[in-house]
Amino acid sequence: MSVLDLARAEIRTMKPYSSARAEFSGIGVALNANESPWGAAGAAAALNRYPEPQPPELVSRLAALYTVDENQVLVGRGSDEPIDLLVRAFCRAGQDSILICPPTFGMYAVAARVQDAAILEVPLNREFHVDPGAVLARIGARTRLVFLCTPNNPTGASIDIDVIEALLIALQGRSVVVVDEAYLEFAERPSALTLLARHDNLVVLRTLSKAHALAAARVGVLIAQANVVELLRRIIAPYPLPAPSVAAALAALGDGALLQMRDRVRHLRAERERLRIVLSDSLPVVAVLPSEANFLCVRWRDGASMYGRLLAAGIVVRDVSRYPGLQDCLRLSIGTPEQNDALLRVVADAAGGH
Ligand SMILES: *Cc1c(COP(=O)(O)O)cnc(C)c1O
Repeated sequence: MSVLDLARAEIRTMKPYSSARAEFSGIGVALNANESPWGAAGAAAALNRYPEPQPPELVSRLAALYTVDENQVLVGRGSDEPIDLLVRAFCRAGQDSILICPPTFGMYAVAARVQDAAILEVPLNREFHVDPGAVLARIGARTRLVFLCTPNNPTGASIDIDVIEALLIALQGRSVVVVDEAYLEFAERPSALTLLARHDNLVVLRTLSKAHALAAARVGVLIAQANVVELLRRIIAPYPLPAPSVAAALAALGDGALLQMRDRVRHLRAERERLRIVLSDSLPVVAVLPSEANFLCVRWRDGASMYGRLLAAGIVVRDVSRYPGLQDCLRLSIGTPEQNDALLRVVADAAGGH
């Protein structure tokens, strides 16, 4: 059985939209896409032509970065677009379901609601780890996608690669396992991509938004076996990536830029550890959850009042107290040393006021 048997039959058989660029993108006199023959007045670069649907140079650099084949790569508008495409390709509205392990990233459930797919929830255990036995017990005959986020947003813990592989094996022929590695650069762990050759039901999500510092460019990457990528290419928007985003991504993937990225990641990890140690010893803090990402999830004696104090000092953090198990928790992104110091001063002042 092929993993494509899990996908919606009508997506497998539909004839995709064929854009002018997809049909012909050679050089010559391009009179095939109803574009303006002139560049826009005032535009910094020529933007009058439609971009490549999947820019070959970008796909090839991403394939090299993640050491996979080019036909295993799909580039989209952030990770949000691949998440949406997966739910639409694999879940029949009103019939199929996805499985998530809350508290986790909110977009999986949003994409499922838009598609009218049911959402099965298997909460993380008390240490905020995925419970693979509970996941397998909860999977239904129509659970098409299992979303695993590692390191997890908003808690920060990673999932052991052995746990991911055990789930891939147990769910072979039943569900696709989507491993969201948006923060993997900040963890010292192997990627689930090392499992791709052996498991056709694995999909990995990566992004340039976090470690690569390109959140505004909206470049997300889905990596899977070639037949899954081909399926999703059928339903992705014809020109998902604006040309300026592609140019920014190519610049960020140059050798020098990648060295700087890795350097900044090391620096950020050191700051994360410094903050963790100071905060763990602070009076207003109940606990700092172990994090392998570029943020810390912190439980406070009084989360709402700390949120207000930080805001009054001009520091905005994420209130995650509405998530199950995260009452009184705030998620703090690791900033520059100066920004982190400003945050620690507010916490110290609050301790003095106790
Ligand atoms: C930030 C984040 C992403 C990245 O989203 P983009 O759309 O690529 O910017 C993906 N998954 C998780 C869990 C995130 O926190």
